[in-house]
Amino acid sequence: MEKYQKYGINPLLISIATEQAVERIPSRPTNIMLPGKYPKLVFKHIKTVNREFPENIFRLTCKQCNKSGDYDLGTVVVPLHNEPVNKVEKFQALGYFRCKHCNSAGEWELSARAQTMLAGKMALAATKNTTSERSTDVIFGEALIDNGFAPRWGSEAEEYFLHKLADTPDDAYLWNRLGNAYYRGKRPELAVVAHEQALLKDMGQVESLFSLGQILYDCGELETAASSLRQAIAFSHQYGHLTAYNLRELIVGALTTLLAIYTHSNSSIDMLPKPDELAMAHFAKNEIASTSSLDFEIDTTRRETLYPLAEVYLGTRREELLPEERTMRTNSSKVAWPAATKINKQKPPKKSKNKKKK
Ligand SMILES: [Zn+2]
Repeated sequence: MEKYQKYGINPLLISIATEQAVERIPSRPTNIMLPGKYPKLVFKHIKTVNREFPENIFRLTCKQCNKSGDYDLGTVVVPLHNEPVNKVEKFQALGYFRCKHCNSAGEWELSARAQTMLAGKMALAATKNTTSERSTDVIFGEALIDNGFAPRWGSEAEEYFLHKLADTPDDAYLWNRLGNAYYRGKRPELAVVAHEQALLKDMGQVESLFSLGQILYDCGELETAASSLRQAIAFSHQYGHLTAYNLRELIVGALTTLLAIYTHSNSSIDMLPKPDELAMAHFAKNEIASTSSLDFEIDTTRRETLYPLAEVYLGTRREELLPEERTMRTNSSKVAWPAATKINKQKPPKKSKNKKKK
C-alpha cells in the first residue's frame, strides 16, 4: 500500500514541533502535515530555492529494507588528508534524504558503480585549482557541527539537532541550526518549519528571520520576505550568537536583498525597518529617532556602501568593531552621517506614505 515517496519527512520533526507523541505521527508524514505558514508555499518553489546547490544523484541501497533508489547527495564533502583510496568511504553528503520505500535514514550502501562515479567526480574536483573553476559538487574539507561532529549524511545532522531539541524544545538557536541543516540539505520546506519554530520561541532569532526572508524572496513573496528581513535588521543589535563583524555582514546581506525588493516593487515595499519594527526590537528611542533622518548615498554595485547603514543598526554592538574597521565615524557619540540622499524612504511617521492603503 505504501507509495514511493520522493521527499521523506522525519516523524520526529513533526512530533517535537507540534508537541505530540511520536507514536501519534504517521510513520511516513507528507507535506500537508508540516506545521507552519510557509512549508507548502516553499515546496512549490523548491527548484528555485535550491538552484545554487549541486545535484549529485547516486544509486543507494537502504540497509533497513534492502531496496535501492536514486538519491540526491547534494554537496559532497571530502576530507583533505586521507589516502585517495579511502575517500569514497569517508565522504560526507550534506543532502537530506530518507528511504523512498521505508522512510528510514542513515544507513546506506553505495553500489560499485556509484562509488566509481563518485571517485571520478572527486578526482575531477581535485584537478581544479582556481576558485572560478572549482566545482561545487565536491568540496574538500570537513563539515563539522559544534567543532567535533562530522555527520555522514544530512539526516545525521538532523538527528543531532532533533535529539537535543527533544530535551530543550524551546531552544530557538537549535531550531535555527536545524533549519540551516535542512536548507543545505536541499529541503527548504523543512528549513522553514524549523525557522518558524525558532521564531515562535524567540521572535528575535535574527538568523532565522534572515534565512526565512531569503527563502521567501526566492519564492517571489516580496512583502513577507521584506518584513522578515527588516525584522532581522531591527533585532540584530541584541543578538548574541554572532560577532559584531558577522552581524554586520548579515545586515548588509539583508539590506542587499531589501534593496532589490525595494527596486523591484517600484519603491512600494520599505527597505529600512519602520519605527514600530525598531521599537518592537527594543531599539533605543534616541537611536530610532536618528534612523528616521538617515540619508545615504548607496551605490548598488558596491556592497561596502551599505556598511555605514548596517552599522547604524548594530546599535551599541558597533563598539565591538575595531575603530579602524568601522565605516561610521563617531564623534562624542554623535554620528556623522554621510550627506546626500537617494535611498531612504522611511520618512518620519506623519509623512509616511505607508499609511495610505489602497
Ligand atoms: Zn528502506
